[in-house]
Amino acid sequence: MTASSSKSNETTLRNPLSVEHLLRVQSIYRELRHERQEIFGGLPFGTRWLRFRYLRAGTIRTLALAQFAPDTLAIHRDAFDWSKPLLLKGLLHHELLHFVLGPSMGHSKFFRTIESDWSQYVNYQEERRYFVRSVEEAARDEGRLWKYVCPNCHATYLRARPMKPESACSKCCKTLNSGVWSDSFTLITVGRPRTDNGEDESPTEN
Ligand SMILES: [Zn+2]
Ligand SMILES: [Zn+2]
Repeated sequence: MTASSSKSNETTLRNPLSVEHLLRVQSIYRELRHERQEIFGGLPFGTRWLRFRYLRAGTIRTLALAQFAPDTLAIHRDAFDWSKPLLLKGLLHHELLHFVLGPSMGHSKFFRTIESDWSQYVNYQEERRYFVRSVEEAARDEGRLWKYVCPNCHATYLRARPMKPESACSKCCKTLNSGVWSDSFTLITVGRPRTDNGEDESPTEN
């Protein structure tokens, strides 16, 4: 990205939501404001203070993110196609909480407590796990995951993030070396993502 394009980013919104998706997001915003008045009741009635966009295509690690000044909420494009609407609602719930608590709060214990106090939190987490798996499977099919193989048992390991160097096959270490790391079972990298276009929420991301 050139300096000029990053500068124009402040005024031009990349990947804005389609009108249909924006309407859905606005309606969820109103629902959440009503449902958790003690948390979101202080937010403006309408969503004009907030800009909405899609995450960059190909994002695996992040499902949504909150950016400040100008306040922008980015959402994974596939979340709109997901069969259960609770996924999208939970993602918005999480990001709106960032706007209420401010950028310095991160994913602190306090943040987690408020988030998990939500009545639909447990169901949302379950739905989120299914969604993450589906995003990762799609990425794997498109060759966007890290792939490792054990030199001993030939088991393969797929990861969205690179493993630490010297990572060893857990199965072989467990069964053949009393659970202790061994150089003989150090995994070999056999596949790297072609590109990593994804966006990361923050260093404190879960
Ligand atoms: Zn977050
Ligand atoms: Zn092995």
